[in-house]
Amino acid sequence: MKTTIDLTQFAPSQELDLHERVGSLPNVLSQRTRELKGRIANAKAVTSLCCYCAVGCSLLAYVSDDGTLLDVEGNPESPINRGHLCPKGSAIFGFTMNDQRWTTVKYRAPYSDRYEERPLEWALERIAQLVKETREKTFAREWTNPDTGEKRRVNHTLGIASLGGATFGIEENYMLGKLMHSLGVVSIENQARI
Ligand code: SF4
Repeated sequence: MKTTIDLTQFAPSQELDLHERVGSLPNVLSQRTRELKGRIANAKAVTSLCCYCAVGCSLLAYVSDDGTLLDVEGNPESPINRGHLCPKGSAIFGFTMNDQRWTTVKYRAPYSDRYEERPLEWALERIAQLVKETREKTFAREWTNPDTGEKRRVNHTLGIASLGGATFGIEENYMLGKLMHSLGVVSIENQARI
C-alpha cells in the first residue's frame, strides 16, 4: 500500500526540535508514528528476581493496571547485574506469557510405558500422601551407635531427601527449609548453595 506523507506539516527546520530532524532535513514521521507509544509506557515496574540460578539477577517486571505482565528486563540499579540478563533471564517473559506453557503434570505410573496428563492439584495431593507414608515408615526417634550401643535422640527420617533447584526464589527456599526440617528430613540440598 502506498503511503503519502504530508511534508507541509513540518515547520521550517530551524523551528524543529532536534529529534524531528535528520541532519538539516525534517524527519518525516507520520502522525501515526508520532502517536505510537511503547507497550510499557504507562506500566508499573515491579522489582523482582530471576529465578533461574544462584547469581540472583534483579529484574524489572512491567505490569498493567489489571496485573497483566507486559515485559521483563534487567534492573539497571542492581549491583549484581547492572541491567544485564543472560539468555535464560532474558527469556523469562516468553516463558511466562506463553500459551504453550504446560499447566498439567505428565505422570508415568509404576511399570507403565506411557505418560498421562494429570491436574497439578492431583500431583500435589499424591506428593503429600507419599511424603506422609514414607515419613511414617522411616521416622526414627533414636539412633544407636553400633560401636558403643549408646543411644541418641535424632527425630529424623533418612527415607526422604530434598533437592531444590535454583528456580526457587528466596521465600520458597526459606519455606522449603522450614518444611523439611520440621518433617525431620536431614538430606537437604539446593543448587543455589552450590
Ligand atoms: S539465570 Fe541468568 S539472568 Fe538469571 S540469575 Fe542466573 S545469570 Fe542472572
